[in-house]
Amino acid sequence: MIRTVVCEKEGCDGNGFHICTEDNNLILICKECETRYSFDVSYYDFIMLSSCSYCSNDTFKVFKDTEKEGIYAKCMKCGNPPEKIYIDSDGNQVSYENKRLNDIREMIYRLDQRICNMETRLESLQNGQELLEESLAYINKFMSK
Ligand SMILES: [Zn+2]
Ligand SMILES: [Zn+2]
Repeated sequence: MIRTVVCEKEGCDGNGFHICTEDNNLILICKECETRYSFDVSYYDFIMLSSCSYCSNDTFKVFKDTEKEGIYAKCMKCGNPPEKIYIDSDGNQVSYENKRLNDIREMIYRLDQRICNMETRLESLQNGQELLEESLAYINKFMSK
């Protein structure tokens, strides 16, 4: 279930947060009372930045998936997610475009591997076929004697 994160401080029901990332934690700071909340987001391969990817607003509504890992932020003005920086497999920070490019490269490489495997299997099938034909020819020769 997706739950809206609301400030838990007594007397405050703020649901707008400033966000920032420290180490592997996403830090939410209530816009009303400045109470800080920390969420472990080490499972994400990206870092959320403090401002909206679309309008640069810095206040977000935050949603949390209670069943599986997942925390989402939506700009309070325009509903877009915050700007993100991705971490590639070497631990470098890359833009979304670069991350996509790397993913596509990886996918093409894997496809290539699969085609290669299929070719090998086809080849061995073909070899099998030839062997079968040879045996049949041999049997035919044997029978016709
Ligand atoms: Zn608050
Ligand atoms: Zn926005």
